[in-house]
Amino acid sequence: MLTRLCRWLEAGLLAPCCLHCHEPVPGTLPICADCAAGLRPAPVLPEVLAPCAGARLAAFRYEGTAAALITAYKFGENLAAGRVLARLALPALREADRPGALVPVPLHRQRLRQRGHDQALGLARDWGRALGLPVRAGLLRRRRATLPQTTLDARGRAGNVAGAFEACGPCPAHVTLVDDVLTTGSTVAAAAEALFAAGARRVDAWVLAWAAPPGGGAQPAAMK
Ligand SMILES: [Zn+2]
Repeated sequence: MLTRLCRWLEAGLLAPCCLHCHEPVPGTLPICADCAAGLRPAPVLPEVLAPCAGARLAAFRYEGTAAALITAYKFGENLAAGRVLARLALPALREADRPGALVPVPLHRQRLRQRGHDQALGLARDWGRALGLPVRAGLLRRRRATLPQTTLDARGRAGNVAGAFEACGPCPAHVTLVDDVLTTGSTVAAAAEALFAAGARRVDAWVLAWAAPPGGGAQPAAMK
């Protein structure tokens, strides 16, 4: 009932509502102070050794508000949820080294058809616009469809995406991969390998959230 009322108010341009708890909020950012306070920063992720050298930065832990909003963005086509998280992640990204370009981790065309939008491309565009960085959306391509990583353990994830990406042109020396969630890091490692093969010398990764790898572990797992 409250959700419906809020949507009605929003439609009437009277007040935005929090995308998580649906309470009306002041201002233009559709997230309330309580829900925003529930976004806990992710731990510092260790740098990865060659051949996939680079810094990896996750803005939030994949839990609570962050997990709910990412799920709504990724699977519910709630683009506003992605935009809010992308904006709240900006202070962390401004601290990071600036690459020559942002490269979204691409979806396979089959998955894109099912989902209706490309969540990594949306993040890369928001971050590129806010930070004044070019976005090279067509630089990487998925050669083949892969299973959803969430259905696999760490070893299965690495095998699932190994060799799944290829670069479609020369790559700038320093690029940053963009994705929504990083768990074991297998996907960005496979994408980075394709970029190194295309001439990159450093490949970083920026994601909205870090999720604890399957089987637990308080510290983030190494990428490989
Ligand atoms: Zn809220």
